[in-house]
Amino acid sequence: MSDFVQHATHGDVHVLRLNNPPVNTLRTEIRAGLLAGMNAAKAGGAKAVVLIGTGRMFCAGAEMTEFGKPRVPPSLPDVFDAIEGFPGIVVAAIHGSALGGGLELALACHARVAVADAQVGLPEVKRGFVPGAGGTQRLPRMIGPEAAAKIIVSGDPIKASEAHRLGFVDAIIAGDLEAGAVAWARANIGKSFTLARNRTDRIAGQDAAAYDAVIAGLLKRTRGQESPKGCAEAVRASFTVPFEDGLKKERELFSTLVAGEQSKALRHIFFGEREVLRIPGMPADAKSLPVERLVVIGGGTMGGGIAMSAANFGVPVTIVEMSEEALQKGLARCHANWERTVASGRLSQAEYEKRKALLTGSTDFEGTVAKADLVIEAVFENMEVKKQVFARLDKAARPGVVLASNTSTLSIDEIASATSRPELVVGMHFFSPANVMRLLENVRGAKSSWPAIATATEFGKRIGKLPVLVGNCDGFVGNRMTGKRTPQVEKLLLEGCLPADIDKVMEAYGMAMGPLATGDLAGLDIGAAVRKARGTVAPVADAIVAQGRFGQKTGKGWYMYDEKRNRLVDPEVERIILDVAEKMQVRRRKISDEEILERLLLPMVNEGARILEEGVAYRPIDIDVIFINGFGWPAFRGGPMFWADTQGLKNVRDKLARYAESTGDANLKPTALIEKLAAEGGTFAAMGAAAKAA
Ligand code: NAD
Repeated sequence: MSDFVQHATHGDVHVLRLNNPPVNTLRTEIRAGLLAGMNAAKAGGAKAVVLIGTGRMFCAGAEMTEFGKPRVPPSLPDVFDAIEGFPGIVVAAIHGSALGGGLELALACHARVAVADAQVGLPEVKRGFVPGAGGTQRLPRMIGPEAAAKIIVSGDPIKASEAHRLGFVDAIIAGDLEAGAVAWARANIGKSFTLARNRTDRIAGQDAAAYDAVIAGLLKRTRGQESPKGCAEAVRASFTVPFEDGLKKERELFSTLVAGEQSKALRHIFFGEREVLRIPGMPADAKSLPVERLVVIGGGTMGGGIAMSAANFGVPVTIVEMSEEALQKGLARCHANWERTVASGRLSQAEYEKRKALLTGSTDFEGTVAKADLVIEAVFENMEVKKQVFARLDKAARPGVVLASNTSTLSIDEIASATSRPELVVGMHFFSPANVMRLLENVRGAKSSWPAIATATEFGKRIGKLPVLVGNCDGFVGNRMTGKRTPQVEKLLLEGCLPADIDKVMEAYGMAMGPLATGDLAGLDIGAAVRKARGTVAPVADAIVAQGRFGQKTGKGWYMYDEKRNRLVDPEVERIILDVAEKMQVRRRKISDEEILERLLLPMVNEGARILEEGVAYRPIDIDVIFINGFGWPAFRGGPMFWADTQGLKNVRDKLARYAESTGDANLKPTALIEKLAAEGGTFAAMGAAAKAA
């Protein structure tokens, strides 16, 4: 018998242990081991079989690296046939997680037992496909189609205790799971269990219209994405056609979706989010420095959010502010934010009290900084202010302590030059709201040491962030690329678009919010101040701001807003735009959705390529992961560089050249890297794979 599935006997109860830790994916050897194990248990006269997992969990599901390769038998359904055909009972014993194919394995068993806080779920929808081994047919037969659809369409796991309440976990086991599961199985030998495939009690009489109404509600949140629709359709088959036909339907949907562009994009990001944590060139022995206490300088919008993130993950944190008044205001904002979460039921009062106790404040700069193991600065975005703060930090902090800045545009090297420890200065660029957004752009200065980088990386992971290491430049990766889109927005408005035309295209593409609505949310005065400081103009945007239209905070910006902050088209904005166009003698024309999309995305791709040429981002995947996690980019589009590959880089080059010509925007001239890849027939994906192999 293979090591991948270990077989033990306890009298007439046999135990098959999935042994491919840490997560026991259902690779070929596991499937073969399970099939052999079931056959051996049957031959050995077992009356019950317990399936259990080694390591962190029962089973995380299919081995995704086997996707797209020729399938090697036995298949998962072959294993399920052996389980369902077993003359006794088969019991899945779940700890950690049972996800995807792992849960489908458990659903094919006669019964399931679990530890109370184990997680069960079918996350396939998040990888762009549907559960492919009967999950969409068996789960509805156990808990009803509507409850099953909620789980399958969202892809979010639920606790085993909740699954027990819903009825697809038979018992919760306290204490040792294996011993408890074996005892439970023994106690149930001889009892009759109806396999899910043979049940009709929960699907009989399901009202199709009621089901469709539930689905319509679920799909509202998944605009543009195919897999949630596929999941809903597969579950629908559970009560409209016989079990075997339902399986066929599920298999068809699985095959179509898994081969599609959206699933490829989602898997690209799934693997990419692991890949970005492997930092090229980082020595294996680069140790992060231990952090027992974080100190955040500045308790404004960002400082408060950063401090909350730390407390949310159990790290003691102190905010330093300039005055008692600013400090109390900052702390109160954090408390109010947590209180809203308690009121919504997503945070317990006890957990809130714990977090609140971890978050303290002080106006004693030197005294507080002296106790810090890591400092993150989030004061005003002004170089002189930052340099003063860093000079003071350098004197007050213990030797060896890393000093990080949350600046979004300023040079980390210049900030570091104000200290005697530039090797311990890094950027840690959080995104707003910092307690929510997962992206953390860590910025490597010219002198930043590996231990400093490792500390920023490890600490970011510890407080629930996804750290992506980038180089030092104006705007770093995300804001720098987005900044190249802005001039095209301005030009499109002049040439023929209205704000809603542009936002509609980007939102149909899947963005959480179009660029103009986002501007209204962030405040249009910020962009205006940046333009002023840099001596640039944007005639349309400037005209809007000149009317006191700063965005949502003034009730009007590119749109007008009602009391509920609903975005409404304002004819006044059209008048302002037409006025500017007339003054500038621009002949407005109808602009196609395709042109809008290309003129917004291609400049970002071009800048992304420039960022790769400069080595500011290590790999195309770093850029894609940044946009998915920090800029509301839809994961099912895979990020800007992935999108460019889907368009074909020759096409990208030709279109960039054409738009550079027609819009007179020199930024759109294809970069050397795009020229090279287009000429070679290359892709960003292949470039990334080569970097990985090197
Ligand atoms: P903010 O104005 O809301 O907060 C800054 C706070 O720093 C204020 O409360 C101020 O009292 C305090 N402060 C200033 N000097 C101080 C000092 N010497 N000691 C202690 N406290 C001091 O600004 P913010 O939006 O939180 O931005 C802070 C930093 O984060 C800036 O560098 C900004 O570029 C960056 N950032 C902002 C965003 C964003 O969306 N707001 C996103 C990413 C990064």
